[in-house]
Amino acid sequence: MRTRLLTSAVCLALALPAARPALLQAADSSTYVVNDSHFHLTNYVQQGTDIHDFLKIMGTKVGRVALFGIPLQQTWSYGNTGDFAPTYYLQTDAPLYYYSFTDAFIAMAYRSLARDEQARFDPMITGFNPADMYAADHIKRVLLTFPGVFSGIGEFTIHKEFVSAKIAGETASLTNPALDRILDFAAEAGLVVILHNDVDAPFPKPGQDPYQAVQLGALFRRHPKTSIIWAHCGLGRIVHPVKDQLSIVARALDDPTLSHLSIDISWDEVAKYLVATPESTQAVAELINAHPDRFLFGTDEVAPTEQAKYLKVYDMYAPLFAKLTKEASEKVRKGNYARLFDAARVRVRAWEQANAK
Ligand SMILES: [Zn+2]
Repeated sequence: MRTRLLTSAVCLALALPAARPALLQAADSSTYVVNDSHFHLTNYVQQGTDIHDFLKIMGTKVGRVALFGIPLQQTWSYGNTGDFAPTYYLQTDAPLYYYSFTDAFIAMAYRSLARDEQARFDPMITGFNPADMYAADHIKRVLLTFPGVFSGIGEFTIHKEFVSAKIAGETASLTNPALDRILDFAAEAGLVVILHNDVDAPFPKPGQDPYQAVQLGALFRRHPKTSIIWAHCGLGRIVHPVKDQLSIVARALDDPTLSHLSIDISWDEVAKYLVATPESTQAVAELINAHPDRFLFGTDEVAPTEQAKYLKVYDMYAPLFAKLTKEASEKVRKGNYARLFDAARVRVRAWEQANAK
């Protein structure tokens, strides 16, 4: 009797390894220090780090990564820069354009990994124009072309300093119904959304109302069923925190109509504000300790070549992590990522199976 029970238990355990080890490994990320909710494998000219090399850069420090490219290609216009090949949007006046092939590139990179390696990545779809009413259809097409790969959409951008004005074609906006179609579909399929939208305009005039923040709040409230991560809390290189930003964010996080909203603190340009002084670090720590489920760590690094540079942002946040409760620190570093992306994996797979041709 006992031996038969044993054998059936063993068979059962054996039967499960195919699925469970990958998740288990991800679930057993206790050995890792952090998950990265915001990472670009490729840059503005679609060049980047080989994903197998990146796994080595992640090493034993980074457990899971939300993996995406950059949905915009920086044009190398000979008429503008001659033989100089720009690799970043600040290096030339030539326009940027949407580059949909990035999704196939990311999917194939993911598929080149072994199963247990795949479990450490949550690939994201970015290669769509958020001002195009057909963008939601692109996202569906990518899911059905590459089933079993993607967990979400983004980082995609509406208002971003220096970038939005350089994009050829209709400028994206927070009031465009194309964006509502995208977020509606994300809710239907269970996709996590990472949205980049500056909280204010660069160099705002004193007393100028940050229309972006107002339109953003309205957009978030129009999509209560969509799991949205607001990248960088809307901050940027030039776009600095608006007056009372912390209390505005605290009110938003206390508001039950925004319970589907999370915030990532990725990018060294953001860290420079948050840990600028002991006072700012203390204030941010208090906000996070009061809302431990709503913040995610991310690097926003682009195509790194070595771990020290890749994790520079994490090191910058050491004074902030030191002021967080044990619970909040674990959730910001790992727990919130696992909760949001595990839920997405299950739901998106179900949507793919239900809609497979
Ligand atoms: Zn980014």
